[in-house]
Parts: sequence; C-alpha cells; structure tokens
Amino acid sequence: MNIREPKNKGMVYLVGAGPGRADLITVRGADLLKTADCIIYDKLANPALLSYARPDADIIHVPKRIGTGSCTQDEINRLLVEKANEGKTVVRLKGGDPCIFGRGSEEARVLVKAGIDFEIVPGVTAAIAAAEYSGVMLTDREYSSQVAFITGHEADGKKESSIDWNVLAKFPGSIVFYMGMGGLQFITGQLIKNGMNKETPTAVIANATFPNQRITKSTVEGIDDKCKQENIGPPAIVVIGDAAVGDTSLNWFMKKPLFGKTIVATRDHRGNAEFAAKIINRAGNPIEFPTIKIEPLTNTTEFLQALSKITEYDWIVFTSANGVRIFFDYIRDLSKDARVFASAKIAAIGARTAAKLAEFAIMADFVPDVFTGKELGNQLIGFTNLKGKKVLLLRSQLASGELIDLLQQAGADVDNVSIYTAVTAKTDPAPLAKQITDGAIDWLTFASPSSVTAFFEQIRPDLVNSGNVRVASIGPITSEQLKKVGVKIDLQAAEHTIDGLLDAIEQNRISKT
Ligand code: SAH
Repeated sequence: MNIREPKNKGMVYLVGAGPGRADLITVRGADLLKTADCIIYDKLANPALLSYARPDADIIHVPKRIGTGSCTQDEINRLLVEKANEGKTVVRLKGGDPCIFGRGSEEARVLVKAGIDFEIVPGVTAAIAAAEYSGVMLTDREYSSQVAFITGHEADGKKESSIDWNVLAKFPGSIVFYMGMGGLQFITGQLIKNGMNKETPTAVIANATFPNQRITKSTVEGIDDKCKQENIGPPAIVVIGDAAVGDTSLNWFMKKPLFGKTIVATRDHRGNAEFAAKIINRAGNPIEFPTIKIEPLTNTTEFLQALSKITEYDWIVFTSANGVRIFFDYIRDLSKDARVFASAKIAAIGARTAAKLAEFAIMADFVPDVFTGKELGNQLIGFTNLKGKKVLLLRSQLASGELIDLLQQAGADVDNVSIYTAVTAKTDPAPLAKQITDGAIDWLTFASPSSVTAFFEQIRPDLVNSGNVRVASIGPITSEQLKKVGVKIDLQAAEHTIDGLLDAIEQNRISKT
C-alpha cells in the first residue's frame, strides 16, 4: 500500500440532475442523493431534488454567476477535495448531464490529481429534453441525420472562438446551442455571414420540462427579435435547422390540459407533497400552502380503551389514509402488526384509504364506490347486516356525526374514536395573497373543511371572490364549509379524491375552450 495515501478518503459522485423536472433524474442519481453525506449543487439543478437528502446531510449551494472567472470554479474544486478528504461521500449535483457543457471533466481531473475516487452519473441533457418536450425532433430521418451541440458561451479565458462558423453555417443537420441567449444576435449573424440561408428554421425552447416552458419559432434571421418581443430568456436551447420547424402534433407536454396552470394545494404538509407530485405529472405548477397539521390522538384514553378490546369488534372502519398511517405508526411502536385486528372485517372510505391499508398487507373487506362518509354508511348497510354488530370508527376528530347516526339506525353498536385531529398550520400568507391579487394563481383547491377554515383564517375571502382565481372543492362537505365562510365555488369534483379534483379542473378547462 502506498503509505502517502491518506486513509478514509471519501468518494465523489458527479451526478447529472437532469434538465429541470425533478423526476427526470436517473434512478442511480436519486439513490446516491439518498445516501450522500454532502451534496454540492448548482443553480440549474432543481432544488426539489434535495428532498431526497438525508436530514443530516451537509447541503451546499454553489451558484455560479454568468461572467465570473475561474475563481468560483476553483472554489468548487477545492470544496470537492476538502469534503472528500474529510472522508465524506459527496454528491456533486449538476444540471442536465454533468459533462455536457457542465465542467464535469474539469472537476473529475481535479479529483484524479487529489487521488480521490469518483464516479460519473450521466443525466438527461437540456438539448434532448427541450426537444422531446416540445415536438422538435433532432434526428428525425426525414430531415436530419446529424446533430451538433455547440456552446454559445466560450469557456472562460479563451480569447479566440474555437467555433468554426464557416463549417457550422453549412452543417447539414440540427445545430443546438446551449447558453446561446446572451449572444443570440452574434451567433445568428455569424451563421448568416458565413453562408447560412437567412430563412433557415430556428426554434428557442426556454425552461424546458417545467410548467413555464416556452417555445418560439422563426428564421435564423428573425429569431433574436422574436425572442426579445416575446421576452424569452435563459435558460434556453436554440435549435437551428429543419428540425426546428417541429411537429406540433408531437408537442405532448404543452398540450396537457393543466400545462402551465398554477394550482395551490392547501392540505397538510404530507398531503400537499403528494398532491404537488400529481400536479407536476399533469404539467401544472403546484404551490404548496399547508393550512393544517395532522396531530395523532393515539395517547387518549378513548383510543387506548378501543385498542385494548380491538378483537371484540366485527367491523373496523377507516375513513382516511391519515387514519391508517397513524394507527399503524402506533401499533408498530408497540412491536405489533396487522394481526391485532384478529377476525374483524375492515372497511375503507375510498381507494386511497384502501391503498394505504394494502401497504400494511390488509385488503379492505369493503370499499364504497362513492367516497363520502354518508355513502360509506349507506353502502355498508346494504352490503352486510349490522344489527347487533360492534363497529369501531377510527377517524378524524373533526369528522361529522352522520356516519355514526346511519350505522346506529341500522342497529350497530358504534364506538367512534378520534385517532387524529387537524390543527391550523402557520404559513406566511403574504406571498400567496400577493399572487392571488396579481392574477398569478389559476386554482385554489380544498380537500377538507378544516383546510377551508384554516385557509380563510389567513386569507380574506373577498380577495378570492373578487380576483381571477378559481376555487375547486373536493366534495360536498368541503363545499359546505366554503359556503359557510362565504367563498364562491367554481367546481366540485364528481369523484371525491385528489385525482378526481384534478380531473374536474382539467375538464373545466377543456369545456371552457
Ligand atoms: N450540463 C447542462 C448544461 C449546462 S450549460 C446540461 O447537460 O443540460 C447551461 C445551459 O443549458 C443553459 O444556458 C441552457 O442553454 C441549457 N439549459 C439548461 N437547463 C435548461 C432548461 N430547463 N431549458 C432550456 N435550456 C436549458
């Protein structure tokens, strides 16, 4: 063994974050983020990816400003070596692919020199993502058999351009410029000067893969003016050549009904994160505004008594995924599992609750096809004879009494036990209030009466009623609460689930155009 080699050297992973949208990172990249001791990330890497990080990870943001010299890159290089020499596993997270105009190779060379092990994890580079998210096909065999990636911004310190404009002007395929917006006029001017046809199709795709993605098309001569008129700026990819004509029928992303729509989720933190992921899947722009915090009530006498005689129940009813999660968190702490239910039958209010139960290997014996407490009651009564049966409801403290009444009328012996409650969460309402006033919000969504109450304790109803913002409610109980606080309702979901709510918003948009 080389005795000069320091012990406990860490490891550096140069990881491509992908072009923007967080879930376009590779599986390998995401796995490494989950285990890293230290994450050093760039401006172009989506900060949402940091949600993968360990709570104790050392997270360092290294913004690189355009125009700064090699000093900043030197600082990053030093940081990589320093952290690895502390024995840490370092993820260097870089936008797109780490080595496509990303200086990944420079960083890797520094690591080689310092004797630090490294691995490079490729990422989806911006050119490819921008093209495929906008119907601009870079190598469609009808018109382009070659593609060139060019930097529009020469490496620091280089005096002379290494771009051969004469060759490029005659390139018979798709030319893609990264970092081309600052010098767009210069780039197009050089190409035309060197013999490119002024009419050559050109497209600029900005903020690719994000809900604020934009595309504009013109000729190579006209593109700079068009971008200025339309206020299209970086980060953007410039595509020159026949590919830039694009095929609008392939622009699947920008055609999605929720594309670009800004939708506010007003559930608890966990619920909002899940909701936001669904909005992103539909190309919308989520804003998470937590209104409530879910607090377990598993330390109450009421709950503990019910638990002590749980084997006596014929039916146990869960009315939300939260209830299921909190129940199992509690019994897991007791080192118990689903066998506590013994032979009791289990009912779930809807597909989400049933899916949560399935995570604990419980297949619900009964799930109604309409998701309200009242329907659960009516359909359960239709499904089985409850006369003399012992039923345990494990619900939110705020749930209505309707279900209890229905079950009791059918002859059941009902124990209604609150397993959690919702308390108001503190979120600074000023930024959202301003966005509502500015017309920057398309939809406010409400998924429970408690969210409605907590939201309108912080934001005045008249701000919502008088603005352009629309209000979507998950179902009748939530709508009732909206009416109570005096807020207009633009739509109520036909299926009372988060997916149902998003379906309704999509349909609303389609029916309006
Ligand atoms: N390593 C990165 C590129 C870094 S250079 C990659 O592989 O994608 C930065 C340039 O990438 C920007 O100037 C822009 O041209 C392009 N870019 C990065 N993200 C982009 C996005 N979401 N939309 C359009 N262009 C993007």
